[in-house]
Amino acid sequence: MKSYRQILTFNVPTRRAFINITPQVQDAVSKSGIKEGLVLVNSMHITSSVFINDDESGLHSDFERWLEKLAPEKPYSQYAHNGYEDNADAHLKRSIMGREVVVAITDGRLDFGTWEQIFYGEFDGKRNKRVLIKIIGE
Ligand code: ZN
Repeated sequence: MKSYRQILTFNVPTRRAFINITPQVQDAVSKSGIKEGLVLVNSMHITSSVFINDDESGLHSDFERWLEKLAPEKPYSQYAHNGYEDNADAHLKRSIMGREVVVAITDGRLDFGTWEQIFYGEFDGKRNKRVLIKIIGE
């Protein structure tokens, strides 16, 4: 069995953003040389997510509004976690949107359904963040 590890780095200029990272993940799969296996993609932070969904701007604004209803950013004072930090909402949003995805690799390609794309979901940006790509297979 072969394995391959790569880190993606982000410094998103806004507090929140959804970034399609499918090309970077496919690039890592290609570099790995692995034709049949699995790729794990996970955020290495507790205020950002990796998830799979549609690359459609209306849906992304729906996610933004839905997450703001569930865990509004402000007022910061509504959260016990806030004080030194102001990112309690980002921890909650990340929990809803998930930490990681696992995708099958078939014939050297990400084996997706028709509309599946991999996204990095930033909920506390303006700082350096990392995403781990780990690939196993042969
Ligand atoms: Zn925090």
